[in-house]
Amino acid sequence: MGEIVFTGGSVFDGTGGPAFPGEVVVRGDRIAAVRPGHSLAPGDEDATVIDCSGSTVMPGLVEGHAHLTFPSAVGHLEPGFNPPVDVSFFQRPPSAHEHLALAERNARILLDAGFTSAYSAGSLTPGNVEVQLRDAIASGKVPGPRLRAASFERDNNPVRHGAENITPTGLRRFIAEQAALGFDAVKLLLSNDDVFVPGGSMQTQYTAEEAAAAGAAAREAGVWLNCHAQNPESIKLAVRNGFRSVYHCSYADEEALDLLEEHRDELFTAPAVGIMWANVHEAHEFGIDHATAERMGSVAQLEAQIALYPEMRRRGIRVLPGGDYGFPQTPIGRNARDLQLFVDLFGYTPAEALVAATKRGGEVMDMADELGVLAPGFLADVLVVHGDPTQNIALLQDAANLTVIMQGGNLHKRTR
Ligand SMILES: [Zn+2]
Repeated sequence: MGEIVFTGGSVFDGTGGPAFPGEVVVRGDRIAAVRPGHSLAPGDEDATVIDCSGSTVMPGLVEGHAHLTFPSAVGHLEPGFNPPVDVSFFQRPPSAHEHLALAERNARILLDAGFTSAYSAGSLTPGNVEVQLRDAIASGKVPGPRLRAASFERDNNPVRHGAENITPTGLRRFIAEQAALGFDAVKLLLSNDDVFVPGGSMQTQYTAEEAAAAGAAAREAGVWLNCHAQNPESIKLAVRNGFRSVYHCSYADEEALDLLEEHRDELFTAPAVGIMWANVHEAHEFGIDHATAERMGSVAQLEAQIALYPEMRRRGIRVLPGGDYGFPQTPIGRNARDLQLFVDLFGYTPAEALVAATKRGGEVMDMADELGVLAPGFLADVLVVHGDPTQNIALLQDAANLTVIMQGGNLHKRTR
């Protein structure tokens, strides 16, 4: 039959119900059965049996705000990509070919960390490197998380884009161009950020007319809109114009929260709290001391997010872990740490954090009916984690605990 049976462990299926002693049966690229108990059924003798004693079988993780074209990954730190402290990376930018190779390396590292899917929050450079990466992964040429690709981040800054481009017409053209390049989503910096400009997080960079034009152009071109949105006005522009991913939201006010809640079945947020945490607590060695973290807005943003996201959770707004990995202080491959921060800072239970990274991940990938939970007919993205991450979410951060990583029925990793 060519079946693979995960037996002997406990099953966390991604829906949020408690883990239970059970088996998961995989046939081809799909899950054939999920069942309680540990008795291999008759006929399973031909199957490949994977002993999961002492382990938890769960869905593959989904990174909700990926930047696979950012240069730093575990074991490959790039100190020159660390704004505003050091941006020397851009003095010798990689060629498109080099950039694709770098992104392919990052994709493999993210898959090795248990992330079998990733939703991009934007490309670092213009061009279509991320589209090529997505297609290479999809065709099986390159190991990596299945990817939804997002465009270069458009910031509506006349210095960077030329004044003639920052009109509704220029914006429509940009979105049509990115769609033609093959991107699934287009990323706009609806607000600026303190990292780029002092006080930037409170600057809205697009008018209501432009945001409406973006919404219309995206619908016409068949792409999703993602945005960087820190201040209340930018969040409201995003929600009112059909943006699907509204990132950060650190300074959401009551009206913005109400809007997010009202549209919670149509959109996702992701705080990208890992970078804020790292900037405030862990980035001394990369030149970010407390005063610098303050100047970058990280201290205030972290504080604001710690106050805000428990309320997002309470309101049932879909909050995704992950985000802004790819800096030296947040190298790609460390992404599972976000789940711990959801537990430690935002009041999520470990099981809720796991649901955010699995079931909600399937939803943001627009594959809710076949990805993100362990259920018959779903894609066989399966992790075997030594121990019980529903009790100890930190287990996911040590790749040695990930004894099996399966993606679409393919055994990417199996530790014997
Ligand atoms: Zn980002």
